[in-house]
Amino acid sequence: MKPEDKIKEILKRLKRLYPEPKTALNFSTPFELLVATILSAQTTDNHVNKVTEALFKKYRSIKDYAETTLSTLQKDISSINFYKNKAKYIKEAARMIIDKFNGEVPRTMDELMTLPGVARKTANIILSNAFGINEGIAVDTHVKRLSRRLGLTENEDPQKIEKDLMEITPREEWSNLSHLLIFHGRKVCQAKRPNHKECILYDICPSRNI
Ligand code: SF4
Repeated sequence: MKPEDKIKEILKRLKRLYPEPKTALNFSTPFELLVATILSAQTTDNHVNKVTEALFKKYRSIKDYAETTLSTLQKDISSINFYKNKAKYIKEAARMIIDKFNGEVPRTMDELMTLPGVARKTANIILSNAFGINEGIAVDTHVKRLSRRLGLTENEDPQKIEKDLMEITPREEWSNLSHLLIFHGRKVCQAKRPNHKECILYDICPSRNI
């Protein structure tokens, strides 16, 4: 099967299984998504959602994050790992958005990546989920593992994996692909115990016997 056909088949099957491919992080504004995404590094989305439920009620605007003291923000997110650095990133990002981007979360990859705590993966998540812009494919640990197991890439480096996936995936599906691989990685193709026998991709997966 050609890689382009294989990816279409993977998308078709996974969409049947997970009909709503979108981020599991709760947010109602682009800045809230930025906050949630920064908090989600090395933390589960469920835990982030629990913390942001109270956080988003307390901090209603970007200005609130910029003007609070660092120690207050750190205290408000202290159950999240690396909370000290994450609070710093969020506060500095809020200040920078107010000073340099007229108080609006920027909508380009280059601008987003100037914000503290924002690398390419985070920028991809914000562009696609907050603005509906498919600029790239967010490659996290699940996307990396499944892409390799499914034979879609041989690379280890997330940026190279992203490039490989972008070459074979229709642009309008870039965001969907990332979410679908994450869902499938969490539910079926887990790192330690991939459940090959229950997998909807079994017959087209070169790793089904690992
Ligand atoms: S067949 Fe196994 S390795 Fe391949 S995607 Fe499914 S669970 Fe993962």
